[in-house]
Amino acid sequence: MAGSSNQITLSENEKKALKLIIEAGEEGLLQQDLWKMLGIDSRDGSRIALRLAKKKLIYRELVTIKGRKTYRLTALVDKIPEEEEEKKEEKSETKYVRRPPRPVRLNVKVSMKLVSTVPCATCPNLQRCAKGQFYDPTKCKKLNQWLQRLAVKLQQKKSAKQESRAVEATA
Ligand code: SF4
Repeated sequence: MAGSSNQITLSENEKKALKLIIEAGEEGLLQQDLWKMLGIDSRDGSRIALRLAKKKLIYRELVTIKGRKTYRLTALVDKIPEEEEEKKEEKSETKYVRRPPRPVRLNVKVSMKLVSTVPCATCPNLQRCAKGQFYDPTKCKKLNQWLQRLAVKLQQKKSAKQESRAVEATA
């Protein structure tokens, strides 16, 4: 349907960028590589990535590579929306469906050491804690802080691995 809320207009460079990001699959593409592949400068590259993220077509994840901060870009769609629109002319009922954001993949090996650090393990309110109750895990400051620290640690590990893989690849 013309004028549908799912209709998204992309510039030629945005289409090219999105295509590259989709082709990069789950590993995604570093923003610093994207603008080089497109033959544009870093400022234009980051503007394009930002616009695609605002249109909810990609996910931008802040990462540190060789000590420098950049963004890992992963696609939230598996097709370029306008290509889907073109197909509509052939198949009138084909609709562009936006995928829900993919959660960040974290390769976590659950160890007893890790489990023993969960604040709930020693919390006196554990028996009374449930969603919607006075003690609510979704609002618990202690649990949230623990999860944030864990996420930072895992992200640092992941970045260190990616960095060492990048160093190996260039060696
Ligand atoms: S979520 Fe918070 S209040 Fe609930 S058991 Fe865990 S630490 Fe205790």
